[in-house]
Amino acid sequence: MTIDLRSDTVTLPTPAMREAMFRAELGDDVFGEDPEVNALQEEAARMMGKEAALFCSSGTQTNQVAIAAHTHPGDEVICSPLSHIYLYEGGGTMANSGVSVRFVGNARGMFTADDVAAAINDPDNAHLPLSRLVSVEDTVNKGGGAVWDPEALKAISATCRERGLALHCDGARLFNALAVTGMDPQAYGALFDSISLCLSKGLGAPVGSVLLGSREFIRSAHRIRKRFGGGMRQAGFLAAAGRYALGHHVHRLAEDHNHAKRMAEALAQLPWVREVMPVQTNIVIFSVDGHSAAECVKWFADRGILCFPFGPDKVRMVFHLGVNSSMTEEAIRRIIIAA
Ligand SMILES: *Cc1c(COP(=O)(O)O)cnc(C)c1O
Repeated sequence: MTIDLRSDTVTLPTPAMREAMFRAELGDDVFGEDPEVNALQEEAARMMGKEAALFCSSGTQTNQVAIAAHTHPGDEVICSPLSHIYLYEGGGTMANSGVSVRFVGNARGMFTADDVAAAINDPDNAHLPLSRLVSVEDTVNKGGGAVWDPEALKAISATCRERGLALHCDGARLFNALAVTGMDPQAYGALFDSISLCLSKGLGAPVGSVLLGSREFIRSAHRIRKRFGGGMRQAGFLAAAGRYALGHHVHRLAEDHNHAKRMAEALAQLPWVREVMPVQTNIVIFSVDGHSAAECVKWFADRGILCFPFGPDKVRMVFHLGVNSSMTEEAIRRIIIAA
């Protein structure tokens, strides 16, 4: 049996999710007539306490639409150098919106309200790009699935409001973060002007993300999604999977976190594992000594465990609804025996 820990995007729809997709009522969403898409957007917005939502093809699309909706060419976005919007969206932040990025934060992708305040350019100095947007990633993928402290987010939100900047959350794994902090989703939603929420990561839907914000913001995002080629027609098949995921797969995320912690303990026993980043959610990142990340990935693959090189000397494993407790224990057994 192969245990696939490369990403939480490798999940396949469960039989019950497929049933929900099969039964989806459909219409043309470009005409606003797909009942499943409309229901998903309403439910997701209500869940996070936002006025409106927009179903998009991917987390990259929700982030890119949000950045374009918040900024004008020549503006600047303040974010971590580890952020997905900078590293993994094909240069889209710069190419699609014509904005520059200003880096803040530490090795886990976190920063403070003071860091933000110090990075905001003087709006009266015409030499400088206009600081327009701050983007936070929660959980931080490159930071080993690190979860933001709600107090830090509240302080950043207050600074953004005071200084007139918009605040975006790349919440690809937002519900993993909420499972740890226990923060109320609507209180969380109130901190941000926009939130991108992936349905196809730990929540287990095959495709899709939702962008959340005010009615006015989503109106503008809707036009930009169309411009980016993101108007989908009978998208209700996919929205039905997303609705099922929001209704049934949020509550089980803590299981993935337990599996990740069990794995981290086992990995720490391998002599060539230098350091395992602290595990808070479903992601385990570890650095290796004496072998390249690619060699280590091969070592695991030879034992039927798939993982992902995450830099020259780092490897990532991600837990998800396709890996249950007995599969986790089996993976650990194979690792310990081989060690
Ligand atoms: C996966 C991910 C996204 C979106 O990725 P898509 O593959 O485009 O859906 C955005 N941000 C983070 C932090 C992610 O991990």
